[in-house]
Amino acid sequence: MSIIVQKFGGTSVADSEKILAAARKAIRTQKKGHQVVMVVSAMGKNTDELVRLAREITEEPAAREMDMLLSTGEQVSVALMAMAIHSLGHQAVSLTGAQIGIKTDSSHTKARIQSIETDRMRAVLDAGKIVIAAGFQGIDEDFNITTLGRGGSDTTAVALAAVLGADACEIYTDVDGVYTTDPRVLPEARHVARISYDEMLELASVGAGVMHSRSIEFAKRFSVPVHVRSSFSDTPGTMIVADPEAPDQPVCGAAMLKNEARVTVLGVPDRPGAAITVFSKIAAMNVTMDMIVQNVGADGRADISFTVLRDDLPATLKAVEDATRELGAEGFNCDGEVSKISVVGMGMATQTGVADRMFRALAEKGINILMISTSQIKISVLVTRDVAPEALRTVHEIFGLETEPASLEAGGGDGPTEPHQAAAAANAVASIQGMEDLVIDEITLDASDARITLAGVPDRPGLAARVFEEIAAGGIVVDMIVQSIGWEGHANISFTVPRKDLDKCIALTTELASRLGCSAPTSSAAVAKLSVSGIGMRSHTGVARRMFSSLAEVGINVEMISTSEVRVNVVVDAAQGEKALAVLKKEFTDVTV
Ligand code: ADP
Ligand code: ASP
Ligand code: MG
Repeated sequence: MSIIVQKFGGTSVADSEKILAAARKAIRTQKKGHQVVMVVSAMGKNTDELVRLAREITEEPAAREMDMLLSTGEQVSVALMAMAIHSLGHQAVSLTGAQIGIKTDSSHTKARIQSIETDRMRAVLDAGKIVIAAGFQGIDEDFNITTLGRGGSDTTAVALAAVLGADACEIYTDVDGVYTTDPRVLPEARHVARISYDEMLELASVGAGVMHSRSIEFAKRFSVPVHVRSSFSDTPGTMIVADPEAPDQPVCGAAMLKNEARVTVLGVPDRPGAAITVFSKIAAMNVTMDMIVQNVGADGRADISFTVLRDDLPATLKAVEDATRELGAEGFNCDGEVSKISVVGMGMATQTGVADRMFRALAEKGINILMISTSQIKISVLVTRDVAPEALRTVHEIFGLETEPASLEAGGGDGPTEPHQAAAAANAVASIQGMEDLVIDEITLDASDARITLAGVPDRPGLAARVFEEIAAGGIVVDMIVQSIGWEGHANISFTVPRKDLDKCIALTTELASRLGCSAPTSSAAVAKLSVSGIGMRSHTGVARRMFSSLAEVGINVEMISTSEVRVNVVVDAAQGEKALAVLKKEFTDVTV
């Protein structure tokens, strides 16, 4: 018999009427001949309220007790949902994470799922009852209650769908699907019928709060088709599946992370292992770094810039102060009033000119770009917080996201596209331990590029647009771009170009540098880009750190870095490329599939 998992978010169970409406939906599905598992979030803003209560008592509540507290929100919902189904004359059993047997590690407030028992759920389903599972929670090996991180009920739902080999995982929420950007921020955002796992993963990680990004990791790993739709209407929602809606479209969505902070460590001696000192100290504070950008300076010193959540800034600065002293770096600075705007799209990987279009559009609005980081299917820029909404609107408009792409692939619409594949994949793994472990699927080496760095460029709106437009006008295709704030309002820009175009590009940028009044570009004639891709790349904060320390151990210096949700890219000297590839393959043997 087919199994359908239906997840109801906070607003969808905010009061008794909504709980009854959700119960009716599940009953209708059961009547169509399916077995139904409901996953339920805490009612309305209940979790926020619990967090507030804890903070009223103490600024630093113990994480274990926080989980004990937060898990109660979902417990209320499952009990009420079971009562609602009973009152409608049907049978249902509510189960907590522990009762189901959702085993997690012990990292309270951000636990990862290790395994899920299916026996009890199957017994309830086979008895003709609806299973009502509490979202967002699990239990560690010592029977402590754990939670999966805010928004984690999505992850519970997709994980249950995976282990049960469900035919569909439906996410009922307060919007009727995934939009090209948050429709509450930009009313002109367009509803998308279909989006690929990779695109949704990147979008979720750069601010599209509609799905918990780890739920998409599960969906991708176990081929679970996810259907995001409205609790309050029957319109078709958005299918999250393997293939994109329009593969040729360079950009499928945009997102904003409003409360970010930028930190730059200046003048770090450019030698193997320097970056890792900074990263380890920050990781030790339990802070996740993002948008890591390293630029080699002309004088053998590097600047390392990165962003962290605004709330993590105080802890980060402590770590950075320490690292600066230890490394003999020149100093550091930070800016707590910045936001990150990103665009994501599969088509970007094969098309040129996407980045400079974005930079030009922002320049025309007079918006200054503080930092840039590009990866295969994502471009992120950092801007000051006051202009962030305008920057989001600008990029949404320049890529025409409000209009439907011309080249829609067939196969979208509602309804799962590949249910049986999902069931097969899930059955194969249902018994595996470590469901949310890091998985590396590919480590590649591309040794065909050269690197160019423009240092000390006057930092003003339009700078990046000008640089990359002139390079594009010279017929040169730019691959990886990183820009960071240097010192005193001067920016450093590094990028890679095909080796055959190096001389032309040096000539072009030397001329440009003299017009801009900055020093001549520096370059590496032959660099190698190593790219590690997989699942859990960012939420497992250790990936970048493991890459850098394994490379540093054999004396390989990292010249450029860019990270994304599915990939970490590093650029090293081409002569070291093969060696670096071997080192990374060895480093990640235990997690490579
Ligand atoms: P739930 O409580 O059901 O899990 P969430 O609040 O977590 O709901 O997620 C739904 C919200 O996500 C929407 O109300 C919307 O404002 C926001 N959102 C952010 N980005 C997007 C996007 N790209 N598409 C749709 N909704 C988005
Ligand atoms: N109730 C939890 C939260 O608000 C989990 C969820 O809703 O997904 O974060
Ligand atoms: Mg949510």
